[in-house]
Amino acid sequence: MAGKAIVQCSAGHLFTATWLPLIGIKSLRITPSRRYARCPVERHWGMVTKIDAAHLTEPQLIAAQAHDAGLQ
Ligand SMILES: [Zn+2]
Repeated sequence: MAGKAIVQCSAGHLFTATWLPLIGIKSLRITPSRRYARCPVERHWGMVTKIDAAHLTEPQLIAAQAHDAGLQ
């Protein structure tokens, strides 16, 4: 079972996604940590980047967990 990743879109929104390492189900894989995908926060398409949760503050983590993009 793939774990939830914290992801940030090009507009700066934070959300979680189930990040499949090798393939993109609903996203176009660019590199292992970058994809072109739909952002669930404002429902737009853009570059999204997987980020390390250790770099986030508590409020950022809470904001990220409020939105989930599902399988990516
Ligand atoms: Zn966004």
